[in-house]
Amino acid sequence: MKNLLALNWKMNKTPTEARAWAQELGEKLEAGQAELAVMAPAITLSALAANLPTGVGFGGQDVSAHESGAYTGEISAAMLKDVGATYAVVGHSERRDYHGETDAVVAAKARQAQANGLTPIVCVGEKLDVREAGEHVPFTLAQLAGSLEGVGTDVVVAYEPVWAIGTGKTATAEDAEELAAAIRSALEERYGDAAAGIRVLYGGSVKPDNIASICAKPNVNGALVGGASLKVADVLGMNDAL
Ligand code: PGA
Repeated sequence: MKNLLALNWKMNKTPTEARAWAQELGEKLEAGQAELAVMAPAITLSALAANLPTGVGFGGQDVSAHESGAYTGEISAAMLKDVGATYAVVGHSERRDYHGETDAVVAAKARQAQANGLTPIVCVGEKLDVREAGEHVPFTLAQLAGSLEGVGTDVVVAYEPVWAIGTGKTATAEDAEELAAAIRSALEERYGDAAAGIRVLYGGSVKPDNIASICAKPNVNGALVGGASLKVADVLGMNDAL
């Protein structure tokens, strides 16, 4: 399975900056081993659609759990699809923490994405206290089960230990593989043979110099990258390393 390099810009880049980034990527990107996709602020997606090099995809960082209607400020899966998105991140820890998103809400968002032909990237992962208590595997699997309720097999799972996000503390490749393997087993129980086609990503302080060792692990199929997604040079470095 091809690695997926999913670039999570978070709340960075105006449409003008997004256009310049996409054009720079187009000038410098050489064919790599990985599939690239940019998870960008919704307001930048039209600029990305017009300027990203062929073969580089994009998606939303969140999506509404509702089809349409009186949900002021929300972006629907149909809207993302209409501008050409193929992915939507759901359940990122920043959404869970700052916006109170529960597993049930995350699952509803993932179902809504799939109903509109988008592949949800479902994020799960423990905080530091849970890891220090040695509960990271059962905690993350419980979160996964709740977040995949009623969700079909066209899905990507991102394991992002919260203590490693934006902190410079990367989980070791072994830590990433421990959870990726546990997630893979849970996916096999849930989806049977189809689980073999589901990507499991690692996220948390991934950079050009650590991506190769993490993605070399048998159950890790790519990375969800925040900080190192903002500069084209870092993206090229990660693409080269894969
Ligand atoms: P980071 O963010 O790479 O800056 O740690 C990862 C993420 O939150 O998806």
